[in-house]
Amino acid sequence: MTRLAEPPEFPVNIARPIFVIVAPRSFCVSARYSGASQNLSSANASRQFVAEWQDQKMRAFNQEFKKIFKQTQQLLGPREPSRKIMPIQIEGDNYPETTCDAVTREVTIRVTTSTITYPQQRTYQLRHESVHCLSPRNRPDTLFFEEGLANWYALTHRSLPSEYRQKSEQKLDPLLAKPYKLFCALVPTYQQIAALRTDCPVLDDVTSELIIKHFSAAPELAAQLMERLPKNRPSVMY
Ligand SMILES: [Zn+2]
Repeated sequence: MTRLAEPPEFPVNIARPIFVIVAPRSFCVSARYSGASQNLSSANASRQFVAEWQDQKMRAFNQEFKKIFKQTQQLLGPREPSRKIMPIQIEGDNYPETTCDAVTREVTIRVTTSTITYPQQRTYQLRHESVHCLSPRNRPDTLFFEEGLANWYALTHRSLPSEYRQKSEQKLDPLLAKPYKLFCALVPTYQQIAALRTDCPVLDDVTSELIIKHFSAAPELAAQLMERLPKNRPSVMY
């Protein structure tokens, strides 16, 4: 993946500088103290302010994901039951991910720190990961069908401006562009995907026969969508 300077809110943010949380300017102005004791109280106030600010961000992320995930289930069929979605983690620079614990059945979504700065990137990543939350499996070699679906869903949903989605599509990492383009070749609809998931709720269990059945796909295309992403991936979004 090449370094990406533009667009600033592009969903795949490889090699982006580490995000540094900066308190809003209004705080910096109010924090001009003089004297040692005041400096100390200023430092404490600063820590508390940043902590509260981070907490607010976390709440906003979780609220947005809740809305997105509800909509994803309405469009693409209900989630696998008895999985607990944990609070969103905001961490790392290279790619977001969804992981799950096979024992506790807890599902954790991690989005990149850059999503704090770029709200459209946040929406894109949350919408993409919401597909993986429908039937999470803790394996990095995601089926092309599921990975293609996740990017197709994020890139076609109108909650993001078309210009942003177009630029994002153009900048997709080749590793992700391949399953995305194969999935687009199905010319899918939400209804077809939901019907497939009625037959097979777990996306990782989808078969070429099901793809042929629900999308009237050519056998060759269906077979290609049965490929998987590499297990040892480079630092790319998935
Ligand atoms: Zn993905």
